[in-house]
Amino acid sequence: MTRVFSGIKPTGHVTLGNYLGAMRHWAEVDQHRADSLFCIVDLHALTVDHDPARVRRLSRQAATLLLATGLDPEVCTVFLQSHVDEHTRLSYLLECVASDGEMRRMIQYKEKSARERERGGSMRLSLLTYPALMAADILAYGTDEVPVGDDQTQHVELTRDLAVRFNQRYGHTFTVPRAARPGVAARVMNLQDPTSKMGKSDDSGPGIVYLLDEPDVVRKKIMRAVTDSGRDVEYDRETSPGVTNLLEILAACTGGDPRALAGAYESYGALKEDTAEAVVEVLGTVQARHRELCADPTQVEGVLRQGAEKARAMARPTVDAAYRAIGL
Ligand code: ADP
Repeated sequence: MTRVFSGIKPTGHVTLGNYLGAMRHWAEVDQHRADSLFCIVDLHALTVDHDPARVRRLSRQAATLLLATGLDPEVCTVFLQSHVDEHTRLSYLLECVASDGEMRRMIQYKEKSARERERGGSMRLSLLTYPALMAADILAYGTDEVPVGDDQTQHVELTRDLAVRFNQRYGHTFTVPRAARPGVAARVMNLQDPTSKMGKSDDSGPGIVYLLDEPDVVRKKIMRAVTDSGRDVEYDRETSPGVTNLLEILAACTGGDPRALAGAYESYGALKEDTAEAVVEVLGTVQARHRELCADPTQVEGVLRQGAEKARAMARPTVDAAYRAIGL
């Protein structure tokens, strides 16, 4: 059976982008078609300035939301990265296979380190080596497929390179994984700046819909979304990024086709109203389940404990084999 691994970083509140672009697909499709692991990659949240209590809180929140979206711990494995030591054990070996040049070429590293420099802060070394840890996350489980958005494809490419290089140097140890694009999932853009993605790490308010936003907050954010200077409702990422983003969101929520939906609207106002209602409805289901799960936090803790045990048992043979192969 195909093995799938994917993760979410507890660096901010989970967004509509995370949900429509990744989590919904994990729950509706991936967990049923593959032997899949979904990991809250909390170690990755330490690569930039962080508040310990916040990371812990956001990790639990992400876990609760993953279950609320419909991930079934009887069918897939849900766990925290820091609960399974095999990730860091393997990451070190991969750092010994990677070159510093290939780490420095990562676009996310370039962007984030430039931002840190602009702020005058010092950059954590882990921001540079983070792709080796991400490669370990993936390779430890003999992963075949990694469902990720475009922002992560470069890291999956690097993971493939490291797996191939390790196998060539030290004997066949790792499955070489491939990135999988969730077919229908949207790339959701910031409502206030539709040329940049709706990223949770940005935490910059009105352009981001959070999965736990109240209905009125969702409506307000969507009604105030930046639209384009024209008047026609057109699907075109280049010339009408704001409207296209709304069409994508509406289509993702209702199961329609964004291009066909464009023809059904004559005004931006009507499009915004329908998009807001569609998002409120989709989030309502997740939020109701989230409330139930929050009533009994021991349930989520239990799922994470069991998930970590299952994950450890899967990762250990591969990581042990890698240690032997490399000469330890
Ligand atoms: P973030 O960028 O919000 O911190 P993560 O790195 O934790 O997100 O990614 C979790 C998953 O959500 C990944 O598969 C990523 O590709 C997806 N994702 C994140 N933001 C968006 C977005 N705006 N649109 C679509 N998918 C997204």
